[in-house]
Amino acid sequence: MAGLARRLAAGFDVRRPVESVARLGLDLRLHEQELRLPGRRVRGTWDPLLRRIEVYECIASVGDSELVAVLGHELWHALAGRWQHPHAADDEIAQRFAASWLVALGSSGVSVCASALRAAAVAMPAGRPSAGAVLSIGP
Ligand SMILES: [Zn+2]
Repeated sequence: MAGLARRLAAGFDVRRPVESVARLGLDLRLHEQELRLPGRRVRGTWDPLLRRIEVYECIASVGDSELVAVLGHELWHALAGRWQHPHAADDEIAQRFAASWLVALGSSGVSVCASALRAAAVAMPAGRPSAGAVLSIGP
């Protein structure tokens, strides 16, 4: 787990998270707005059909670690299968992976990544949540 997180962090340019995710063959959409579904506040989604991660509430009031952890959580869902890990859909493992990823990025890396995510969310046109099947809604 920590080894996979370190490996991902090593090739991840925190200044350009959208491009870094694209290099993994995935689409990253960022939103300033929140996504509320009945009874829950959704922070991130992974859509395996569109190979798309979406992260919501990329805003200053969401802390750096909290925001980057949402991306890490969804990256686990997106990549665990590629890593031959049998529990790609497991939210608890996704959370542990996200925590390891934060450690691997280091506090300055997390801070730079969070700023880049917020800036990219401002630059992206506001889109609707993707309509495809959602394997994961979390954390
Ligand atoms: Zn999840």
